[in-house]
Amino acid sequence: MAPHPEVPPGRRRPLVEGRTPGHRRTGPPRRPRARRSSTDRRLTLPFGVARAEVTDFDVAVVGGGPAGSATARRLALDGYRVVVLERSRFSTPRVGESLSPAVTPSLRALGVREPFDALGPRPSYGVRSSWGTDSSSSTLSDPHGPGWYVDRAAFDRMLASAAEAAGASVRLGVVCREVRPGGAGWTLRLSTGGEVSARVVVDATGRAARLGRRRDAERIAFDRLVAVTGFAPDPDPGGFGLVETVPEGWWYCAPAGAGRLVAMLLTDADLARSGRLTTSSEWAARLGPRTAERVGPAGTLRVVPARSHRLHRREFTEPWVAVGDAAFAVDPITGDGVAKALRGAADAAGAVVALLGGDTGPLRAYEDALDRETTAYLHRRADFYAAEDRWPDAEFWRRRHAVAARR
Ligand SMILES: Cc1cc2nc3c(=O)[nH]c(=O)nc-3n(C[C@H](O)[C@H](O)[C@H](O)COP(=O)(O)OP(=O)(O)OC[C@H]3O[C@@H](n4cnc5c(N)ncnc54)[C@H](O)[C@@H]3O)c2cc1C
Repeated sequence: MAPHPEVPPGRRRPLVEGRTPGHRRTGPPRRPRARRSSTDRRLTLPFGVARAEVTDFDVAVVGGGPAGSATARRLALDGYRVVVLERSRFSTPRVGESLSPAVTPSLRALGVREPFDALGPRPSYGVRSSWGTDSSSSTLSDPHGPGWYVDRAAFDRMLASAAEAAGASVRLGVVCREVRPGGAGWTLRLSTGGEVSARVVVDATGRAARLGRRRDAERIAFDRLVAVTGFAPDPDPGGFGLVETVPEGWWYCAPAGAGRLVAMLLTDADLARSGRLTTSSEWAARLGPRTAERVGPAGTLRVVPARSHRLHRREFTEPWVAVGDAAFAVDPITGDGVAKALRGAADAAGAVVALLGGDTGPLRAYEDALDRETTAYLHRRADFYAAEDRWPDAEFWRRRHAVAARR
């Protein structure tokens, strides 16, 4: 990946925000990296001899989405040897293009505001919604300023570049197949056939929570939500995001960059199957009236898992930390996933540093805080769904009202 323009490799920039008590340097001593200068001597390797890849790290971050890259950047800036393993190459469109205003302070704290601006994000002053009523309304302004519409794949790539620029080794197109205890910590088996070892592993694999589910944690799912998603040409690239409820669930459409509009029907996995909502004809037939005004024929539909869950940690004996959606994933109606992932990275990095020093206290505090956040989220989610009561007999809404009624 191309080096990040802002912070030259090897240069450490102190983070100004979001440290937890665990972010004290309780881990191993920093290993100062040599700075390069224009007068450095270079060694030219003959007949294609390649530099042997480093395989031994302080921290291995599995997943290079916003949570993984932000955690890796923080740790690398603090001098730890970090590898990021990312399955994709950020070359296909990704969902999650509407960033809430709350991302702005996190981008600043990470020192990535400049490369973010270089992506040409479009300000978002709110989302039009038709939820519980036939009329539509917009959200009000936020103290952090506007939110943003971005090309999500480009945004994720920018954050991975920022992790690399901070000194992390970012390996794209690499799937982590297995993580097993070994040596001084963990051995990770890679799709390339190789292995890397690390003292602490970070599960940043998103809603799949691939690592944590196989360790001392239980994934508690709160629903069966999926997003049946299509990308269509955007007739109005300056337009608003739009949320609209229908008996089968709710629609969201928004500008997704590069002249595209993303449109998704959020419904339950079993309802999508039984109603054949993943076929183009049934999907298009369920478009809400306002959404239909904006969404033309979409290409191939993708079913994106969107269920909310909490990865509940039972033990703290093993040195791993879950961050972002892997730790706690929320319903996309909150519009807060990326902001939450970036915020969580600060605390997760603190927990990792403490684990490197043998202290599990900050990890416990981090998990306790996520438990409290989960409780608050479940109340908020119940409020959202209780506000739509036009289809009490429709299965999607009946399920959600039943949950809200138990409060
Ligand atoms: C339908 C939908 C719409 C959404 N819309 C919004 C929105 O508009 N705004 C918003 O803020 N949030 C939105 N979200 C939520 C947001 O996308 C997530 O909260 C956010 O992406 C979480 O970041 P993350 O880094 O934890 O996980 P992810 O972004 O999911 O990143 C996980 C990464 O791990 C990689 N990975 C997984 N397994 C492996 C493996 N074994 N080896 C190597 N790499 C692996 C994946 O390729 C991926 O890059 C939406 C979510 C859904 C489901």
